[in-house]
Order: sequence, then C-alpha cells, then structure tokens
Amino acid sequence: MKNLVKIFKALGDETRLRIVELLLDGEKCVCEIVRYVKRTQSTVSIQLAKLESMGILKARREGKKVYYSIADARVKKILAKADFSKWFGVERKKINWYPVIDEGKCTGCGMCTAICGRDVFEYDSESGKSKVKNPYNCMVGCDNCSIYCPTDAISFPQKNRREFIQSLIKKYGIVKRVRQTLEVQGR
Ligand code: SF4
Ligand code: SF4
Repeated sequence: MKNLVKIFKALGDETRLRIVELLLDGEKCVCEIVRYVKRTQSTVSIQLAKLESMGILKARREGKKVYYSIADARVKKILAKADFSKWFGVERKKINWYPVIDEGKCTGCGMCTAICGRDVFEYDSESGKSKVKNPYNCMVGCDNCSIYCPTDAISFPQKNRREFIQSLIKKYGIVKRVRQTLEVQGR
C-alpha cells in the first residue's frame, strides 16, 4: 500500500507524469525526454533523479548517453487505465492515427503487446496472433511498435508521419493550445 502511495505521489507532478507517459512507449534517452516534456534540461534531470530514487524508473548508460525506462511494472497498469480520449484537447477519435496489423505477416511473437504501455494490443490465443484492441489509446505520432515488429506486420494509416502531424498542428491550432496551457501553468 505504501508503495502504491509512492507511485501516485510520483505521478502527481505534471512533469513527472509527462516523463512516465513518454516512457510507456519504451526506453528513451534524456535528450528525447527533454524534447517531449518541453522543460529545461536541469528540471528534467531533477525529476528523472527523483523518479529513479523512488524506484519508478531505471537508468542505463551507453557511452555519453543515459537512457531511462520504467522500472515498476505497476506504473504501466495504473496508467493503462488513464484517459487517452483527448489529444491536446482534441477528441482522439477524430485523429486517424493507430496501428494496423497485417494478419498474414503476424507471427504472434508478442513484441508489440510487450512494448506498448497504452494497452493498445492484446494477444488472441485462438489465432495465436496479436490484435489491436484499443486503437485510439495509441499516442499520436508514435510508431514504436512498427519498429519493434520483426516481420513488418504493423503499419499506420498515414504514410508520411511528419507531414500528418504538421497538418494536425495547423488544423487544430495546437501551438496556441500549448501556449495557453504553458501560460496557465506558469501563473
Ligand atoms: S510484433 Fe508484429 S509479429 Fe509480433 S505479435 Fe506484434 S504484430 Fe505480430
Ligand atoms: S505506436 Fe501506438 S500502439 Fe505502437 S507502441 Fe506507440 S502508442 Fe503503442
């Protein structure tokens, strides 16, 4: 129980929650985390150290780079129940971004289920393959599972990811929405 309180405490801070949310999709280096969280390197480093000391994250060094990943499996379970129905305030179902599995290519290795922290996939024991269970839980712009899939069975409806995300940013005025959020946080 004490440990669960610790997890909720860790996720109670917005920067820490954003870090953990990003890491649900797998290990990331510090530079990627800083870019995603949009905080200064020192703020992110402090929060990463805190999360590590709480046992929520674990770090791995490779040359000059440090990579972080989720150490406590219960965090994934808790966040799997999180509300992914909006993307920067936009109804998630309006956004055409989710993985599609080519059944003919899927060998049922389970990599996609293991690496996605958003409960998008499930293993279907009848067919011995993975299935997309919650397509709109998928993080807009993420394509990690397709990289991990050894048989190239996963694709996304949009071929040009960058172009698609840029068009969404324009269409829904995301820059303005982000600025407003940052202003509210800074008050
Ligand atoms: S990673 Fe690819 S091959 Fe493995 S279960 Fe998922 S879709 Fe199938
Ligand atoms: S692309 Fe979507 S489904 Fe695949 S790992 Fe990322 S969030 Fe999960």
